[in-house]
Amino acid sequence: MKKNNKGENTICTHEGEVVDTQFGGSVSPIFVSTSYEYINKDISRYPRYFNTPNQEALCKKISALECSESAMIFGSGMAAISTTLLTFLSSGDHILLQKDIYGGTRNLVEAQFDRFNIDYTFTDDIDLKCFKSGIKKNTKVIYIETPSNPLLKIIDIEKIAQFAKSRDIITIIDNTFATPIIQKPILFGVDVVLHSATKYFGGHSDISAGAVAASQTHIDKIWNLAKNLGGNLSDYSVWLLERSMKTLSIRVKAQQKNAKKLAKYLSESRYVKKVYYPGLKNHPNHNLAKKQMKGYGAMISFEFIDKIDPSLFLTSLNLIKPSMSLAGVESTMLSPAETSHYLLTENERLSQGITNELIRFSVGIENKKDIIMDIEHAIKLAIK
Ligand SMILES: *Cc1c(COP(=O)(O)O)cnc(C)c1O
Repeated sequence: MKKNNKGENTICTHEGEVVDTQFGGSVSPIFVSTSYEYINKDISRYPRYFNTPNQEALCKKISALECSESAMIFGSGMAAISTTLLTFLSSGDHILLQKDIYGGTRNLVEAQFDRFNIDYTFTDDIDLKCFKSGIKKNTKVIYIETPSNPLLKIIDIEKIAQFAKSRDIITIIDNTFATPIIQKPILFGVDVVLHSATKYFGGHSDISAGAVAASQTHIDKIWNLAKNLGGNLSDYSVWLLERSMKTLSIRVKAQQKNAKKLAKYLSESRYVKKVYYPGLKNHPNHNLAKKQMKGYGAMISFEFIDKIDPSLFLTSLNLIKPSMSLAGVESTMLSPAETSHYLLTENERLSQGITNELIRFSVGIENKKDIIMDIEHAIKLAIK
C-alpha cells in the first residue's frame, strides 16, 4: 500500500506526466521509439519490457490512484488478466473464482486452464462462507469482481481479502466496474487489482487497454511473465490513455450522479419490474456498498414487465446507443441474454437471474432529462 497525499483530481490531471524539458509544452510528449540507447544506461528500454517513458509515466498515475506501489499497462484487459493469472498459477494449483465474473475471464479459465493442469472452481454464491467452503489445500488464488456483471452484486472485499491472507492465498480483484475513484481494493488488503482500461480508464470507447496495480514484488513477478508473453500497449495508445485518465475522476463522478437519479427513475416506472443498482436502499448489499464504495457506480441493470418487448425497446432508442461494451461518456444499453450470456442455455441463464427482459445500462454524462425522454419514447414504441 502506498498512499498519495494529493487530491484525486490532481492525481488524474498531473501524476506521472512526462515533462517536456525540450520545449516546455504543457502535456506529455509521446515517445514512440522502439529502439533506445543502452550503453552507459542503467536500464534497457523496449516497448515489450513495459518501460518506455510513456508507459512508465502512465503507470505512476495508475498506482497513485490505486494506492499501490507499482503498476503495469497492457494491450487489453484480457492481456492483463491472463498474464496475471498465469503468473500466480502453475500446474497442480487451484484457483477459486467468484460465480459471477466477466464472461471473457470465465472463458479463459474454462477453455484454457485444463491444458495447463490448473484446477478451478466457481463459488456457489458471493458471501464469505462460499469462499471458505470452496478452497482446497492447493488453492493459490481467490478471484473476485465487484460490482459484478450484469446484476451488480456487491462482494465484501475486506472479508474475502482477510480470509485469503489468513490462508496464504493471493487475492485478485477485477476493479473495472468501480474504478479507483469509487473503490480502492488495496486499502482492504487485496493483493492485485486488475482493470479493463478499455472501459472507464479510456472512457471514450476508443482505446483497448488493460492495467494491473500491486506491490513491487508482485509486479516484478507479473513482469517476468509479461515480457515473455508480450501484450504491451502501443505508445500511441498509452499517450491517449494518459490524456483520457486526466478526466477519469470527473467523468466517473458525473456518470454515477446521473446513474443514481436514473436508477430512482427506473424503479418508479410502471413498465419496469426490477432495478439492480447498489445505490438503491432495497438492493440486498446496499449497506456493504455504502461501506466499501464512494458512491455506487454508473452501471444499472433493470428488467421490463412482460408488456414491453426488450428488443424493440433497444432498437427504438435514439440517443442511448444499443451497443456492446460499457463505460464511455455516452450512454449505452444491451441485452445480456443476447450478448455476454448468449452462449449459455436458457436454463443456465435463468438460474443466474439473467432473463430475456434484462437490460444492462451503462450511464453516460448526457443530461438526465434527455436520457429519460429517450427511454420514455422507446418504451412507448415497445409496448406489445
Ligand atoms: C471488458 C472487461 C474485461 C476485459 O477487458 P478487454 O479490454 O475487453 O480485454 C474484463 N473485466 C471486465 C469487468 C470487463 O468489463
